[in-house]
This record gives sequence, C-alpha cells and structure tokens, in this order.
Amino acid sequence: MAFDDCPPLPSARDRILEAVRRTTLWARRSRTAFPADGRALFGIVQGGDDRGLRERSAAEITAMGFDGHAIGGVSVGESPALSRAIVAMTAGLLPDDRPRYLMGMGTPWDLVEMIALGCDLFDCVLPTRNARNGTLFTARGRLQIKRREFAADPRPVDESCGCPVCRRHSRAYLRHLFMAGEILSMRLNTLHNLHQYAELMRQARAAIEARRYREFLEDHRSRAAGQAAEGGDPAGGRDLPEPHGARPPRSRSIAGGESE
Ligand SMILES: [Zn+2]
Repeated sequence: MAFDDCPPLPSARDRILEAVRRTTLWARRSRTAFPADGRALFGIVQGGDDRGLRERSAAEITAMGFDGHAIGGVSVGESPALSRAIVAMTAGLLPDDRPRYLMGMGTPWDLVEMIALGCDLFDCVLPTRNARNGTLFTARGRLQIKRREFAADPRPVDESCGCPVCRRHSRAYLRHLFMAGEILSMRLNTLHNLHQYAELMRQARAAIEARRYREFLEDHRSRAAGQAAEGGDPAGGRDLPEPHGARPPRSRSIAGGESE
C-alpha cells in the first residue's frame, strides 16, 4: 500500500483537500520508488464525504497504474449509512479490472453489502477486537458470551460453525474463561470470529462463481432484518445501499443534500 493521509470525519473541506493532495503526492513517490517487480502495489483513494474530492482523488490515483485500488477514509467517525454511501460512490470510480480493497470495514453484514458494491478485499480490526471483548459473530447475529444465560449452556457458540472452538468447547466454558479473565478466552473467541469471516467470504465467492450473488445478498438482508426485529441487532437498522451500478443522486455531499 502507498501511504495515505486519512483525516477523521467530520473534517473541514480544507483538511480533506489537503489529505487528497498529500495522498496523491505520496502515491506518486511510492509508484516511482517501487517499480513493478511482481509485488502488487495499491494506491488509496481519499476524499472524505465530499463527492468532488472523491472524484478527483480517484482520477489521480487510478491514473498511476497501480495493481489495485483501495477505498480509504471510511469508518473514521461517520455514520454507517454515510460509510456505505461513500463506498458506493467511490467503488463506481475504480476500474473493474483491478482489485478494489475496502479499508476499515466492517461487520459480516457490511461485507456482504460491500461485495455487492464491487469490493473484493477487506481488512478490519472488528472481528478480532470484538472477539477480545467477548462479542462473537454467529449465523444468527451477535452473541455476548459474558451473559448469565450462557453460564451452564452446553451448546457451542454456533451449532452451524465448523471451527475448532465450536467443535470442542461449550458456551459455558467460553463464558467461564471470559469471566475469569483468561487469555485463552481471547484466543478462542478470535479463532471463532475469524473462522466465521473466512467462511462468509468462501460462501460469497461461491455465490459469485455460481452467478447467484443477488440471491445471496437478498437472503442475508432478510435474515439481518429478521434478527434486528428479534433484537439481535445484526444490521442495526442501517440503510441498505443500492447494488453495484446504481449511484446515489448527484450532489456535492455524498450523504445527499446540497449542504456545504
Ligand atoms: Zn465457531
């Protein structure tokens, strides 16, 4: 990855402009310093929540011939709905023949949506950080292992999960480790969450290859809506973006509206 300057949101337009300029300058130096030698070099698009600056940054970065392009500057303080609007807008500016890498997102439900917008690669602290805090992802939403109801629960975290933790350990044991502050709790929870993410990506890839991603997406959306209705909070009532190809109406701010 080339260096980038990633300001928080909200930031003043001047600060975002400065970040776009600096990111382009660093990208150019990076491109020159690391000639093609078989290792992929990615450029990062900035531009905050400003449509014009996103367009400028995408044009400058994609003109440099990088092997892939990253969408930076999301999940930096803005609402989930705005993150998604920024990704939807920016992904459409990146070439189809190179991988698109979304930095800093997100939940399993986010990832399924972001793949629909054309994102190929992800990295985020969320699965491992949540694991260390005792939040486990399952096919049915989030599970807080510290809850008293799991104190004598002999079932695995997720009965449909094939990870080594779910095959060997009960919720009761994992809760005990967490409550006792055992470091093993963090390791086992992390193993489970990473397995969940890897499995989700495997399923997404299979759905794309079978040309049934639309179905896969709709299935995830309806399950997320059902879980949110049950209080499981998977999608957290977030706005769902339009699939790839549909762009939000043109306006200066990516969030919509014409405000400065
Ligand atoms: Zn598991």
